[in-house]
Amino acid sequence: CGIVGYIGKREATPILIDGLSRLEYRGYDSAGIAVFNDGEICVEKYKGRLSVLEEHVKEKNLNGTIGIGHTRWATHGEPSDINAHPHTNCAGDIAVIHNGIIENYLKLKEWLIVEKGVHFKSETDTEVIAHLIDYFYEGDLLDAVYKAIDKMEGAYAIGVICKEEPDKIVAVRKDSPLIVGLGDGENFIASDIPALLKYTRDMYLIENDEVVLLTKDEVKIFNEFGQEQKREVFHVDWDV
Ligand code: GLU
Repeated sequence: CGIVGYIGKREATPILIDGLSRLEYRGYDSAGIAVFNDGEICVEKYKGRLSVLEEHVKEKNLNGTIGIGHTRWATHGEPSDINAHPHTNCAGDIAVIHNGIIENYLKLKEWLIVEKGVHFKSETDTEVIAHLIDYFYEGDLLDAVYKAIDKMEGAYAIGVICKEEPDKIVAVRKDSPLIVGLGDGENFIASDIPALLKYTRDMYLIENDEVVLLTKDEVKIFNEFGQEQKREVFHVDWDV
């Protein structure tokens, strides 16, 4: 139900958890993060309050500077550690967070299982996104995400990271809110402005069907046809 992503030079974990805590008003049943750690994507996700995630994360040394975080409001699959986001492909080298519903997930899931021999871990609609991106991945995450969303029906805001391209986050908005926060040598994504106000007041408001490519120094916005879009910086001058 809430999305946060960070790419920059600071430790991602505290920023993700703080950002998610500012989205708690939206309600949730589980929480999780995926952070790069020594070149690997490390996923921590648990049913329950953010404090449960925080307790578990304390024991690990997740000090990477790129990551994505999620608070879930279950629509497909009961609230559980396994169904919590982020979800990964089988190899664990692509991680996805998702707000919304993939309407045709059963059809996609069946195709992935029967035709591609994919092994599913969770009962969520979201997990198909990770496997679809993996299926289309040929060395370019942005390209694979475009091919995956072409197959997906429904409402979604997603954030994706990939082990092979540890210098970027790809995000998509389709009928579910998504904003970008702009920093100095760091950038952010979130489902709502309050998640980021502690870190920046300069935002890009992402429009429907847009795809965003973030590195720590740059944010590029593309429309559904892959054409780069110009966006004015939206300066937030209010407080929560
Ligand atoms: N449909 C997804 C799930 O049930 C995402 C729900 C959400 O927006 O938190 O896992």
